[in-house]
Amino acid sequence: MNNATQKKDLEIQENYPMRKYLYIKVGGKAKYLVYPRNMKSLLNLLRSCHEEGEKVTVLGAGSNTIITEQGIDGIVISTRKLKEVNIDGTHIEAECGAMLSFIMNNSIRLGLTGFEFAAGIPGTVGGSIYMNAGANGGEIKDAVKKVYIWHEGEEKVLPREEINFEYRKSNLPYGAIVTKAVFELRRGDRKKSEENVRKYLAYRNRTQPVKMANTGSVFKNPPTVSAGRLLEELGFKGLCVGGAKFSEIHANFIVNFNKAKAGDIIALIERAREKALAEHNIRLEPEVEIMGRETATV
Ligand SMILES: Cc1cc2nc3c(=O)[nH]c(=O)nc-3n(C[C@H](O)[C@H](O)[C@H](O)COP(=O)(O)OP(=O)(O)OC[C@H]3O[C@@H](n4cnc5c(N)ncnc54)[C@H](O)[C@@H]3O)c2cc1C
Repeated sequence: MNNATQKKDLEIQENYPMRKYLYIKVGGKAKYLVYPRNMKSLLNLLRSCHEEGEKVTVLGAGSNTIITEQGIDGIVISTRKLKEVNIDGTHIEAECGAMLSFIMNNSIRLGLTGFEFAAGIPGTVGGSIYMNAGANGGEIKDAVKKVYIWHEGEEKVLPREEINFEYRKSNLPYGAIVTKAVFELRRGDRKKSEENVRKYLAYRNRTQPVKMANTGSVFKNPPTVSAGRLLEELGFKGLCVGGAKFSEIHANFIVNFNKAKAGDIIALIERAREKALAEHNIRLEPEVEIMGRETATV
């Protein structure tokens, strides 16, 4: 493998172009992109980074992240290989890199309900807890029972009641890394759950630009209006910068239609924020996470 080091418990890519990793297909290089192959190696890596004062960034599926073209410093740890899931009765224990879709499909197959909200969210357990991801009338916080985190050099367990989840944010302690989570679901009706998931996915396919690399929702909904409606009213639907544009299907999604650069997307975000503030006195808050060198002031 080019520029890749194989160690027993870690796979290390050097100078890895993060556009190949991120869902939106933009971004510069990570000096080191490291994949722990098991939980023990993740914890060992986090411990040695902590002891050596290394800057660490953790990524799951990369479905809510934009990295600037200047690239990202420090060590980027990918949780993608940490995807073990154990289901015992109504109790599910999942490693941070497990995909929500995997948990949803398997829980429904076993006659459980409570994870259908995740239909169509392309994220991992860790990223989704960090973001308090939600859709279809539910959020991950509704299913979480406890979260294991790495924080300040040690592993800790946070019961759900100690996490102050809000709309699209978890308020986990600064720098906390989710290592695994426990969910509690309920016995349900498999047919009804499957029917709901079909309905949710059909709705997404009708209303979102599912055929192109896209950001997911760019902005959180402000309290008084949906971000999509506001952006449409402000004339952003279809507006392009370089190879990126606000989708014609849903104005709160930016699509990469032609080899966009991270800067194209950031420029669109800045324009929308300026106009929403100037014309409606609304401060749009990005839902996507922007990271990397020379991060713009969004
Ligand atoms: C097509 C599309 C549709 C989407 N639909 C929805 C939707 O309906 N609802 C919704 O809420 N979101 C949606 N999203 C956004 C995204 O899928 C969610 O926010 C998802 O939860 C992000 O998970 P991830 O693993 O991809 O996170 P990443 O993008 O990898 O990371 C996101 C953030 O979480 C942090 N992070 C990642 N892993 C960990 C960890 N183990 N511990 C601590 N922090 C971590 C990262 O550092 C980063 O700050 C959509 C995105 C796309 C592209």
